[in-house]
Amino acid sequence: MTAAKTEIARLLARPLEHLVTAADALRAARHGDGVWIRGLLEFTNRCRCNCLYCGLRSGNDRIARYSLTEEEILRTVKAAFLRGVRTFVLQGGEDPDWTTERLCRLVEGIKGTVSAEAAVTLSCGIRSRREYRSLAESGADRYLLRFETADPVLHERLREGIPLARRLEALSDLRETGYEVGSGFMVGLPGETEDLRAANLKLCADLDLDMVGIGPFIANPDTPLGDLSSGTLEETVRMTAACRILLPDANIPATTAAGSLAAGGREAMLAAGANVLMPNVTPLAYRKRYLLYPGKDTIRRDGIQELETIAGRLQEMGRRIDLGRGDSPAFRRRLITQNEFRDGQN
Ligand code: SF4
Repeated sequence: MTAAKTEIARLLARPLEHLVTAADALRAARHGDGVWIRGLLEFTNRCRCNCLYCGLRSGNDRIARYSLTEEEILRTVKAAFLRGVRTFVLQGGEDPDWTTERLCRLVEGIKGTVSAEAAVTLSCGIRSRREYRSLAESGADRYLLRFETADPVLHERLREGIPLARRLEALSDLRETGYEVGSGFMVGLPGETEDLRAANLKLCADLDLDMVGIGPFIANPDTPLGDLSSGTLEETVRMTAACRILLPDANIPATTAAGSLAAGGREAMLAAGANVLMPNVTPLAYRKRYLLYPGKDTIRRDGIQELETIAGRLQEMGRRIDLGRGDSPAFRRRLITQNEFRDGQN
């Protein structure tokens, strides 16, 4: 049984230092000092959706659109694999040119090019349950689909008519298909209240997520929300720490958005319970066109070369890079439970 919203609200009201200390101790006990590395490949910035906060929205004609070719993606993945990266996150907008059939061939190509043992995470929006199954059969291991806000009214307004229920249905389809499932939310969205912050965390706990992505809302001037105030690092850190306490076995990345909002943002998340970093391996020529929000931290840095810098920073924090697959303990626990249940039925 997950925590009630009132208990979560009480947790959030605790002094930040207490929350961070408790979250960091839990992270150390459940996950150790290793920080999993995921190679992030932003393969298309085309999107048919028109979310009010997002620089990739279809209504934004101020960005140059791109989509990597299969050859570019495979070349990039191979280069990162040779440098030790074993898990890849393919992230893109809802690009109609990337049909499920095409994505299936790509996933098969990645596994065939590097190793069947490499983990492939997809983050390409809402698809049908049948499509999710095809992608899993092609070798996709994990899927990220952030709900962004647990408020159905706000969700529908921000996503120009797409109901929160549709997003939750897709998350349920992903779970039933057998993926390691990630979701999460933005901190500081317009209209956010203390009650909503607790509701966002409660939804993560109710979904029993394997991975939770939390990032501050950063106002993008090329969107209808461009004039609004952005979220704060302090609130992002508070939500990260509370999330670690509620979901001790989930993988929680220190997000690029936190690093873009403030220097040391990702380190602050790592100190508050996060245990994953996602260096950007997208070819540099495309990097500046994937502008979900302005001031993005990873536009100029080569993600692979950055590993050395990351290693140094982690060492200062008493942490270290881990280049393994980094399956979420929450996911492994679920698999064991399912297998035991199946054995009990036979
Ligand atoms: S948030 Fe995702 S679905 Fe919405 S416009 Fe941006 S890329 Fe597209």
